[in-house]
Amino acid sequence: MWDSIKDSTLYQLMAPFVPGQSLFLFHLGSALLISIFVYFYFSHREARARPDGVSKGMFGYLFDRDIWLHKSARQDYLYFVVNSLVYSGIIAQFYISGSVFYGFFDFGLSKLFGAPETALFEASFSTVIIYTFVAALAMDLAIYITHYLQHKIAALWHFHSVHHSAEVLTVMTVYRQHPVDLFLTGTVVVALTQLGHAGYTYLTLSQPSVHGIMGVNSVIFVFFILGYNLRHSHIWLSYPPWLSYILISPAQHQTHHSIEAKHFDRNFGFMFAFWDWMFGTLYVPRGYEKLEFGISKEEPNPYGSVTELYLTPFKRAWHELASLVIGSAATPSSDKKSDQANVAPKLHQPKEPVEKQSGLL
Ligand SMILES: [Zn+2]
Ligand SMILES: [Zn+2]
Repeated sequence: MWDSIKDSTLYQLMAPFVPGQSLFLFHLGSALLISIFVYFYFSHREARARPDGVSKGMFGYLFDRDIWLHKSARQDYLYFVVNSLVYSGIIAQFYISGSVFYGFFDFGLSKLFGAPETALFEASFSTVIIYTFVAALAMDLAIYITHYLQHKIAALWHFHSVHHSAEVLTVMTVYRQHPVDLFLTGTVVVALTQLGHAGYTYLTLSQPSVHGIMGVNSVIFVFFILGYNLRHSHIWLSYPPWLSYILISPAQHQTHHSIEAKHFDRNFGFMFAFWDWMFGTLYVPRGYEKLEFGISKEEPNPYGSVTELYLTPFKRAWHELASLVIGSAATPSSDKKSDQANVAPKLHQPKEPVEKQSGLL
């Protein structure tokens, strides 16, 4: 048990050497290269059409001390270390095994459609490529669905607000996620990818293979190389509008972190943007937008320390559930009301139709 906790904790802490982690040196290197291109792109534009930091020169823009040493960023660094033990070391041990989900779906398919007798098609290189995409799509849809619910269900939002409470974005902000948030997403990802696995086995009567690069699904590996780390950064990398309907650009995820009402509950996607497009939550920037990050414009950041990042969501979610179960009898005391007010605006902002914002349809 202790060995397992130690190994999982170290695996997370050694992220720069793990190809499946976004912090893998290769992915960081590609993000740095892309950032340099972005700097040169903006440095030739007039002052009002470029990020403020560009005037600090290339090094000053990429490694802006006001961002990398900001209190929020320093919280992220500490949170990463602590969560490597709390989440990766301990809580991640309690995932339901993929084989349990697989067995459930395998049984369900046979019950619904009868036991398979012949393979619908033979396994080949094409089926490996197709399954590689299916596995990536299943993971991506699972993240979209979970992310949508984390914004729409108040009790879940309290945990997800930990990620949104970052006031500056650095490559480490991706690790600023509450263990409950991570566990929920991870469980839905395992469930949906095993549904894809069971479906493939049912149709082909054989076990699938995934095409991988350094042991990582090739689709995800390529996605990481194409500047994934810039989504949690101040580097504005926007794709052409047509591509922003297919892939989530770093700029699109940055708008997801924005405290502007027009950006609320937009761009839930991880890799692919068409889930957002299909379900009416897509926002496509039409040029550089100066953004402020956080939970709310009106209220101060409710998370002053790493301890609060862990415990405050439980307190808030408890009051949320208690008030649902026993109604007004469980109404929080006055200080707790103000706590809830801090995170409520993101959930309840009136929204303009998505077509108006993004030029869709
Ligand atoms: Zn979110
Ligand atoms: Zn994010």
